[in-house]
Amino acid sequence: MRFEVTTLGTGAALPARGRFPTAQLLNMQERLFLVDCGEGTQERLRMAQVNMGRIERIFISHLHGDHYLGLMGLISSMHLQGRLKELHVHGPAGLREVIEVQLRVSQTYLRFPLHIHAVPHLSGALVHGDDQLRVTALALRHRIECTGFLFREAGHPRRLLKERVALIPHYARKAVKAGEDLLLPDGTVVPNAELTAAPPPARSYAYCSDTAFAPELVPLLQGVDLLYHEATFTQALAGRAKETMHSTAGQAATIAKQAGVGQLLLGHFSSRYKEVGPLVAEAVAIFPNSMAAQEGCTFPVGSPELHA
Ligand SMILES: [Zn+2]
Repeated sequence: MRFEVTTLGTGAALPARGRFPTAQLLNMQERLFLVDCGEGTQERLRMAQVNMGRIERIFISHLHGDHYLGLMGLISSMHLQGRLKELHVHGPAGLREVIEVQLRVSQTYLRFPLHIHAVPHLSGALVHGDDQLRVTALALRHRIECTGFLFREAGHPRRLLKERVALIPHYARKAVKAGEDLLLPDGTVVPNAELTAAPPPARSYAYCSDTAFAPELVPLLQGVDLLYHEATFTQALAGRAKETMHSTAGQAATIAKQAGVGQLLLGHFSSRYKEVGPLVAEAVAIFPNSMAAQEGCTFPVGSPELHA
């Protein structure tokens, strides 16, 4: 059962040094979601061999251009490709106007239903929920309203023990997976513990971009498997980070450490850094399990071997 993040763009503000502006693709059990959609996202999706028609929902953190200027192009291409399936876009309140004015002036009448949802800038608010997934908001600190997203898998059912499967009639399997004991036709009760093993843990992914150092996020990020946190600068430019309401790699690592996350993924690198080595080194010194997002690379959320 796949749950992974492909970082399609890892740069900040200006596309430079082979880095594209921010966009990420989430694959959760073969359902595809896009998180932010900087310029060039379509091209990045093509390079990652992703069929854009499969994207169900798009989550936009804020309306700085490097996080959403690829959105209209993507919507327009979906239309040209003949998409009929509905598309949901979640983003700041102003996003609706941005999309609608462009559709209006170009006299584009989309073939597919486009649902635009305003995301509340309120930590813990529900952004989207279904039987597999729960997405909640993370109120970030930025120059304009910016909201991160916490993606949590719904709990998995218990796993049937291979050697006992034959004993369980088909009609009873769902109940047994849900934890019930098995009542056999002859009246015998087989305790659930003899039939199933504990389910794999539910995984979680947190997306925090863009933000100044925001320690109030720590309780909300407690124990997430993978935390993506922007790291625009190194500590040497802490003043610049504060001024522009971004974070340093050290600050990102401090959040990761305090929240006890599984892994930290750094991104949104300023174009001034030719190499990301110094940013990673700074984070690793505080939180060893830190790594840099790379263009077009895929990172698993949690331990794939537990969810095989
Ligand atoms: Zn920004």
